[in-house]
Amino acid sequence: MDRLWAPWRIAYVQGTGKKREKQRCIFCDAAKGGHKQHVLFTTGRSIAILNIFPYNNGHIMVAPLRHTGQLSSLSPEEALDLFDAVSRVMRVLDRIIKPAGYNVGANIGRAAGAGIPGHLHLHIVPRWNGDTNFMPVVNSTKVISQSLEELHTRFMKADR
Ligand SMILES: [Zn+2]
Repeated sequence: MDRLWAPWRIAYVQGTGKKREKQRCIFCDAAKGGHKQHVLFTTGRSIAILNIFPYNNGHIMVAPLRHTGQLSSLSPEEALDLFDAVSRVMRVLDRIIKPAGYNVGANIGRAAGAGIPGHLHLHIVPRWNGDTNFMPVVNSTKVISQSLEELHTRFMKADR
């Protein structure tokens, strides 16, 4: 896999360390009604939320509502709901931004690169042919926040 270059992620990467350990869990906050401008939907057991430090346009995270860092701790119902939520996200993205492919996966544990190791989440990263050359064009924070807002609006309209 070609590496995407996403320089705005440095704010996120530099945020790792002692300070971050004390931060509240964004997935639990979102599940309780926070981060409304980034939440796409919740189901009975899962939540879908825009990644504000995207690797690519349309980078979305899906997490169980329950705070757990372990994939193996999910009940069959939670696991099924989580994958239904992933499918739902991909169906909507297919309609609104038509990716040529996806990277879908999880970083489990800090050692594996999890930014929020306490709360399991799956990343859905849309890919296009040649996108490793595309992202440096939109590397300003302003452009990213505008595109997040637009993506949120388009997703909500298409997810019906
Ligand atoms: Zn949590």
